[in-house]
Amino acid sequence: MGAQEMKFTFLNPTKLVFGHQSSSRLGEELKALGVKKALLVTDQNLRARTRIPETISAAAGDLLGGIFSEVIPDSGIEIVNRGAACAREHGCDGIISLGGGSSIDTAKGIAVLLTLGQADISPLLGFQTVRRPMIPHVSIPTTAGTGSEATFVAVFKNESLGKKVLLTDDHLHPQTAILDPGLTLALPPDITAGTGMDAASHAIEAIHSRRSNPVSDGLALQALRLISGSLSACVNDGQNLAARGNQLLASTLAGIAFSNALVGVVHALAHALGARFGVPHGVANAICLAPSMRYNLKAVAPRYALIAGALGISPENRSDTELAVKTIEWVEKLLSGLPIPRKLRDIPIPREALPLLAEDALTDTSIYTNPVKITDPAELEKILQEAW
Ligand code: NAD
Repeated sequence: MGAQEMKFTFLNPTKLVFGHQSSSRLGEELKALGVKKALLVTDQNLRARTRIPETISAAAGDLLGGIFSEVIPDSGIEIVNRGAACAREHGCDGIISLGGGSSIDTAKGIAVLLTLGQADISPLLGFQTVRRPMIPHVSIPTTAGTGSEATFVAVFKNESLGKKVLLTDDHLHPQTAILDPGLTLALPPDITAGTGMDAASHAIEAIHSRRSNPVSDGLALQALRLISGSLSACVNDGQNLAARGNQLLASTLAGIAFSNALVGVVHALAHALGARFGVPHGVANAICLAPSMRYNLKAVAPRYALIAGALGISPENRSDTELAVKTIEWVEKLLSGLPIPRKLRDIPIPREALPLLAEDALTDTSIYTNPVKITDPAELEKILQEAW
């Protein structure tokens, strides 16, 4: 496409504070946003298994108004509503989110309810439903995968529908994201691997999306360069601080990229797998990534060839399609070295469930920006069969 035909908008209002021990700056960052009393939103496991919530509470100092630690993997609507009630009980005017995507998305939902003075997030699910500046939210990711610390989306599990539902708004980004690699050192190898593949999926989907643009391309390609050099290193040696830092940065860059370019079929399938079978989001993305790329190859070979360039795959005399195939092989090789399932049957997902998952994925909004238009669930079932 020539520059004269190109049209896009790009938004990233989140201030990034990166560096080892940068979370000690939490108090300053809250003060800069005018917060008087912040609610710390974190997850049960993080509180039970690590001392990270204590360290962050100490860094918030006098500005800590209360702690809400009921988050479980995959944010739920009831938990968001309870979190907002907790914030009100403690008179909080700002939010700190601490944890993976589940804690950050729960915190985003709580911030929406406090901003709008409402008690239930259910009627606010959907697109651009807030439409006004939000109360201050400082996000501190402790996984390196979702990029939620710098995205305009929150994902919630609707238990009664058995589906994941999205809330998006141009005001949903946390105002500040503190990226402290030391907080990810305790991540076990399987979560490191799954969340790392989530970041890789965000970057690749941002590149093949119908809404890709040159700014998100640049961020996504840099994220993939970092992931190719660091993800396996983090899995093999969790204490490798430099690799942890690269991976955390990659996750945020990929998050900003997909928050603008959006995603595609990989996420549509992963949301269905997460909602129906509780498959961790990164693992679901990891398994569906290469089969989905193979499906999309006919439409976006030059885009995958661009990734090959970023990964240092030699162009020699290869065509775009040959380079695209090399990129897909890179994804498969990366996955094969990680301590997570490579196939849906290894989870195990029953083969009979694939038609239902295909139906679910067809109604997921991520499908709209997939480069190949998909309107028939049988197409999705083909991808799932390959992933099975
Ligand atoms: P998570 O937040 O569900 O956490 C997974 C597990 O890792 C939890 O048990 C948690 O306690 C543990 N954990 C987190 N940090 C740890 C640490 N430093 N040390 C030890 N254990 C730690 O996992 P996630 O993959 O980060 O988030 C997944 C959720 O994010 C999904 O619901 C997904 O849909 C959502 N998501 C949101 C966005 C977005 O932009 N809003 C993007 C992608 C995914």
